[in-house]
Amino acid sequence: MRDVGHFIGGKHVAGTSGRSADIFQPMTGEVIGRVALASRDELRKAVENAKAAQPAWAATNPQRRARVMMRFLELIAKETDSLAELLAREHGKTIPDAKGDIQRGVEVVEFCTGIPHLMKGDFSEGAGPGIDMYSIRQPLGVVAGITPFNFPAMIPLWKLAPAISCGNAYILKPSERDPGVPMRLAELMMEAGLPAGILNVVNGDKEAVDGILDDPDIMAVGFVGSTAIAEYVYTRATAHGKRAQCFGGAKNHMIIMPDADLDQAADALIGAGFGSAGERCMAISVAVPVGKATADALMDRLIPRVESLKVGPSTDPSADFGPMVTKAHLEKVRSYVDLGVNEGAKLVVDGRNFKMQGYENGFYMGGCLFDDVKPDMRIYKEEIFGPVLSVVRAKDYEDALRLPSEHEYGNGVAIYTRDGDAARDFASRVNVGMVGINIPIPVPLAYYTFGGWKRSGFGDLNQHGPDAIRFYTKTKTVTSRWPSGTKEGAEFSIPTMK
Ligand code: NAD
Repeated sequence: MRDVGHFIGGKHVAGTSGRSADIFQPMTGEVIGRVALASRDELRKAVENAKAAQPAWAATNPQRRARVMMRFLELIAKETDSLAELLAREHGKTIPDAKGDIQRGVEVVEFCTGIPHLMKGDFSEGAGPGIDMYSIRQPLGVVAGITPFNFPAMIPLWKLAPAISCGNAYILKPSERDPGVPMRLAELMMEAGLPAGILNVVNGDKEAVDGILDDPDIMAVGFVGSTAIAEYVYTRATAHGKRAQCFGGAKNHMIIMPDADLDQAADALIGAGFGSAGERCMAISVAVPVGKATADALMDRLIPRVESLKVGPSTDPSADFGPMVTKAHLEKVRSYVDLGVNEGAKLVVDGRNFKMQGYENGFYMGGCLFDDVKPDMRIYKEEIFGPVLSVVRAKDYEDALRLPSEHEYGNGVAIYTRDGDAARDFASRVNVGMVGINIPIPVPLAYYTFGGWKRSGFGDLNQHGPDAIRFYTKTKTVTSRWPSGTKEGAEFSIPTMK
């Protein structure tokens, strides 16, 4: 049993609120630790610490700040195996998938090693007679991030690396379900040379989050999690005058055109629908084949693939996916499948009763596949966040384009086709933030930005890429005139006050 406290002022501190939560190992169902849940007072202490440390860090030149990130990268590289194992044991995803979680975060740290260049301002010489105008980017001060359970390495790194590289001090409130990796990342940051107080991890639940949202010294809040909480965090943070970028849930569609390579499309659907047990905000949860012939041919390929998915413990390298994160989440996903059956969708593969031999208390579920799902069903409208793929049959392209465009979520979408014109039209017209063309999970790389539309994202700047630098800095614009008259030459007589 591990006891996880907080990481404040460069060291571990035990929780003092008297409240804590269990940390489970989903593959066995055992409790493997307890995590402290911070009170508002504990959060406030972290903020005071961060506030005191931040000015010196902001005054450290950006190249030195970048070097800390370079050393941080080296330390993560040395520890990827043990970090991935820790991640898999607390989250439930497989170890190869956990390595991907770390890698996609690392790529944003790599981007941040360019911070001296990324923070450069603009300069206009001779904007008026004798006047130059320039802009500079300055850090905000203390900023905070609240992150979900499903990417415990990637999402904290997406947030803390740009925030800290820009010269801010950072308070991370990770998911209470898998706090182990965020805590280890904070230790590695210290080893990399980050001054104490610049990265603080405050574990907790709603109380710590509310403390962040109301704190007068926290200038910006980044959130990733479910839509209801994203909207709540956005509303309360902005009501207190903070910058906020809050990313929520998703229902990502994949359109399969009649000319698509169906073997490729089926492959993509299996990986993107069931990888990480569907607990990804960019998972494909709705397949939209266009026309009956496409739908029938796709179902012929999908059914045997879903039936033969290999569910296994997180430490089994041959498993396609592992257990769900908690028993409560497993039950919620199962009840969505029950609901789909009651709503009249056709459950063609039923994984509800899957049991993992030798791991009977683990939170496992097999893959489920629904056919004939209709847009007015709750299993179509709501995010399930599990290994459940719904097939909605579209009669033609316009019908298919309308589905993701009119859905309340707008995170990711994909189209499979061999027709460049259809792909271009789709990318241009679809009302969704991230689009894949023959790519099932179009997560943009670190130097582009990540963000969904509609109820998948609140706020106007995306995560990572150039938007992150804008989000974590404020722009100051200087207009300067230096009057002439100092060019008269050297004065050789001793100056006197004539
Ligand atoms: P969640 O909303 O339950 O929790 C997210 C964070 O909010 C956690 O740190 C949690 O402690 C905190 N929180 C929970 N309830 C709260 C409350 N009532 N008040 C204040 N704070 C609260 O989400 P989750 O289950 O950890 O993560 C899964 C969700 O995240 C899914 O909906 C998924 O789509 C979404 N997600 C979105 C993206 C994206 O970029 N759009 C990325 C990953 C995950």
